[in-house]
Amino acid sequence: MSLVERDLQVIWHPYTQMKTAQPPIPIVRGEGTCLYAEDGKKYIDAISSWWVNIHGHSHPYIAKKIAEQLLQLEHAIFAGFTHPGAVELAERLLAILPSNQAKAFYSDNGSTAIEVAIKMCLQYWHNKGEQRTKIIAFKNAYHGDTFGAMSVSGRSAFTAAFDSLLFEVEFIDLPNADNIKSIKSLVSSIKTEVSLFIFEPLVQGSAGMIMYDAKYLDELMAHCRREGVLLIADEVFTGFGRTGKSFACNHVETQPDIMCFSKGLTGGTMAFGLTTCTQDIYDAFLSDDKMKTLFHGHSYTANPVACAAALASLDLFLEPSTQQNIDRIAAKHAVFAEKVKGHTSLKTTRQTGTILALEWETGNNTSYFSSLRDKLYHYFLNAGIILRPLGNIIYILPPYCITDEELNYIYTTIEQALNDI
Ligand SMILES: *Cc1c(COP(=O)(O)O)cnc(C)c1O
Repeated sequence: MSLVERDLQVIWHPYTQMKTAQPPIPIVRGEGTCLYAEDGKKYIDAISSWWVNIHGHSHPYIAKKIAEQLLQLEHAIFAGFTHPGAVELAERLLAILPSNQAKAFYSDNGSTAIEVAIKMCLQYWHNKGEQRTKIIAFKNAYHGDTFGAMSVSGRSAFTAAFDSLLFEVEFIDLPNADNIKSIKSLVSSIKTEVSLFIFEPLVQGSAGMIMYDAKYLDELMAHCRREGVLLIADEVFTGFGRTGKSFACNHVETQPDIMCFSKGLTGGTMAFGLTTCTQDIYDAFLSDDKMKTLFHGHSYTANPVACAAALASLDLFLEPSTQQNIDRIAAKHAVFAEKVKGHTSLKTTRQTGTILALEWETGNNTSYFSSLRDKLYHYFLNAGIILRPLGNIIYILPPYCITDEELNYIYTTIEQALNDI
């Protein structure tokens, strides 16, 4: 039996409609920006394998650091114990995060980093003896697939089967010049019941790379701060350079109370989650009273191998050439966006840093399930490019090591698709 035949016997893939699914493509090797299939076909990974990869596949430096760590210490319990990698990673990350971030809490992935953040805020108020259980989040938000993360995400086809079980959230519009006043007065009107405001800074990834102005986010954050609402910045996607700066929160003045990271944290090599918070949040749990403890801990908390991968990725991230690559990709995206702007097949283009999104003209069928999505997906796969559209929106967010040649090939293929589809 082939690998694909065996897969179809035993595997349940994520986000796959079972009856009509195409067989998966067997990938056996990765190098630089590319993934290689069993039959030798090469694919440019233009979406960084679901947005996680930042330095390229099977990076030899990260691989070497992981191998060394595995032979030194593969894992140790993190309740009551510590190890060098966990401490060094926290020290080095806190040094480059907004200056109010003081403590690091490790978990397993983006969704768990969000769960931890939500629990920190809810229990912060609980420990202070205040009854605050309301949550504010953006419409169309995506914060993960576990129940708490799903609860603070926009209601959609993805959550429909569970809607009645999700906790209540006040969903607000993305802020702009027209609505910022009314959003602020809404926040003020419910502030005594509100525990937290959670948001994806600057770019709502899963919603379709929806982008909004740092200026109004900052105004809203500052308002929440004044009104005593805790701020959770979900940088699971935007962290580590995607928006042009190291973190999306570097585009605003107001500092969040809590930040969540995953995806790029290990450079895309392995699952890992991190939630950081201020000293003030931490202090609300610092007590002789056992009931004030944050009772949350995953078996693999602060796994040393994941810490080694994150430290190696951070070494590469802080090399000047990485920021140069980020700037190079952003500049090339801007030139391409300008070139295709106004094409009759395009509704609009938008860009933040290394993220470029192109919205296809569809007439009226814009849902995630539209057939246009499948057509686009297969068009690019045939051309050896992985671009996984969100409905009628295609987006490029490559590993930063992508070459000009590879970028140009993606752009040319998109131009062809604009004419062909
Ligand atoms: C992907 C994502 C998550 C969830 O991360 P997982 O590691 O997939 O659980 C949370 N928030 C945002 C903004 C994301 O893009």
